[in-house]
Amino acid sequence: MKEFQDGLHKKSYYLIVSVIIALMVLGVVIDNTVNMRFIAHGLMVTVVSGCLLLYPRYENTIMRYTTVFASTGYLYSLFYLYPEVWSGFVLLCFIPALSILFFDRTLFYFSLVLNAMLIAFTFSYIIIIDQGSNYPYVISDIAENLVNFIASQVILYYVFHLSNERMKKQRLYFEQVQQAERLKTTGQMAAAVAHEIRNPLTVVRGFLQYYKEDPELNENFKRNFSLMIDELQTAEHVITQFLSMAKPDQAKLTNSVDIEMVLNDVSELLNTYGLPSDNNIELSIDTGCYVNANHIELKQLFVNVIKNAIEASPNGTAVYVMAEKIKAHIEVRIIDNGKGMTQEEVNSLGTPFYSLKSKGTGLGLMICYNIVEKYNGTIKFESQQGIGTTVTVRFPIK
Ligand code: ADP
Ligand code: MG
Repeated sequence: MKEFQDGLHKKSYYLIVSVIIALMVLGVVIDNTVNMRFIAHGLMVTVVSGCLLLYPRYENTIMRYTTVFASTGYLYSLFYLYPEVWSGFVLLCFIPALSILFFDRTLFYFSLVLNAMLIAFTFSYIIIIDQGSNYPYVISDIAENLVNFIASQVILYYVFHLSNERMKKQRLYFEQVQQAERLKTTGQMAAAVAHEIRNPLTVVRGFLQYYKEDPELNENFKRNFSLMIDELQTAEHVITQFLSMAKPDQAKLTNSVDIEMVLNDVSELLNTYGLPSDNNIELSIDTGCYVNANHIELKQLFVNVIKNAIEASPNGTAVYVMAEKIKAHIEVRIIDNGKGMTQEEVNSLGTPFYSLKSKGTGLGLMICYNIVEKYNGTIKFESQQGIGTTVTVRFPIK
């Protein structure tokens, strides 16, 4: 992720880096005598300053690692070059904080591990070789110093972890907002296109129907017309379903809807129309189940779900539809003993155009999900392949 594209950020970075470099240079100059230690210190300051100044130019992983590595080397050199300055030890505790600046998780862990290894080495050196001659303040209470070091690392880890989690959440949210925005515009465009396509389709279908009736045309030829009409009908059906969802529907009225009435209507509709197989719908509905919604949309929802249940069921079996009041909810269950679905199939439900039927549109459930969400309800699918499916729809009670 590039962070320094905008000038403002870059300016503040350079400002802070200048302060850091000034402090580092001050550290070198204050230690006045020119000797080996002075040269080594100056060299380290040059390397770290170079890394810090060059970083915005490249902003890549290598630069990040080099910078953290150089800074770690710098702070440890200070500790070793100036044993009399006890605050050098405090700086060592802060080393992993440097990589928090870059917000790179692996870099942070790398820095944490590197620091732990170097401190283990340093403590061993002080105990075994130095024996407290240069670092009396470390050796005088070695255990306490070690505990403090570990505590500081744990705190840094926690700070990093928390900020990382927050960043991740925010990033996810941002992506979702963007995605929703994109979906909205593509949805509107698709709706416009769909609408424009539907009209010519209707015209073509009308003509085909007309020719189909024409006695002068050859019968063989006319058989293909039925096929064409069928296909056009499917296309129109897809478009109508799609438009019913994409259409802005603020105008649709919401009021208290009796679930019993809706389910009776739907069952009658499905029994009368288009169900050649001798499946029947068994209703068992509590009275007084009222939901705040639009009754046409509720019908659309239950038609889709119950139709799916019937289409999945073998001929001659029943689909059970139950509605009851459960605490503050109305629960409608649609149970079939049909072919069922695998978990993977269940997970795909509601995805646009996901259909396993040869003439399916794969829009039915997407519309259902939309309607359920609109009225603060939930829809749940439980299915076992070869055994059947139970769809549970819940709405808050009116
Ligand atoms: P369509 O019915 O046009 O295929 P839907 O969105 O209504 O589109 O359903 C998507 C798919 O979900 C169906 O093709 C079917 O495979 C599966 N499905 C939905 N309900 C059931 C059910 N009760 N039993 C088995 N499969 C189902
Ligand atoms: Mg369907």
